[in-house]
Amino acid sequence: MSCIFCAIVRGDAEASVVLDEGDFLAFMDIYPFLPGHVLIIPKRHAQYVHELEPAEQAGLFTAGARVAAAVRASPVPSGDVHFLVNDGPIANQTVPHVHLHVLPRTRGDLPKVFAALAKRPAVALLGQARRALLDEQAAAIAAAL
Ligand code: 5GP
Ligand code: ZN
Repeated sequence: MSCIFCAIVRGDAEASVVLDEGDFLAFMDIYPFLPGHVLIIPKRHAQYVHELEPAEQAGLFTAGARVAAAVRASPVPSGDVHFLVNDGPIANQTVPHVHLHVLPRTRGDLPKVFAALAKRPAVALLGQARRALLDEQAAAIAAAL
């Protein structure tokens, strides 16, 4: 089975890692909706939240809460954050490996969110965020953990 997030866990695909601890990994989203967009995953492959063990479900959110606190404490612009899980393709899941989005919001950024949503279908054609920028944001958030 080919899963890009499993490839990241194995170290076979590049990622700007924020947190690598126990059963969980957090890294920057390569097509960020907004600056500082982080994904948290269980290292064990599962597509749906209900396929995770209860301890993994809890651990995912615990790791997400830590990352969100670090985002808030970091220089990455954030007022508040979205926690988001798209649990299956009908619910807009595009990578079939459970992931928790932590998406920093800043006051007045709604037009940027709508622009990102509008560009979403073409996002792979529009290009990935620059790795150097993602690495910089990952390091800034990691430093605030
Ligand atoms: P979903 O729509 O499944 O909830 O979100 C999947 C997320 O994974 C998207 O926001 C997308 O930008 C991100 N993504 C897709 N491929 C990669 C990748 O290779 N590396 C990283 N870091 N993020 C990815
Ligand atoms: Zn996977």
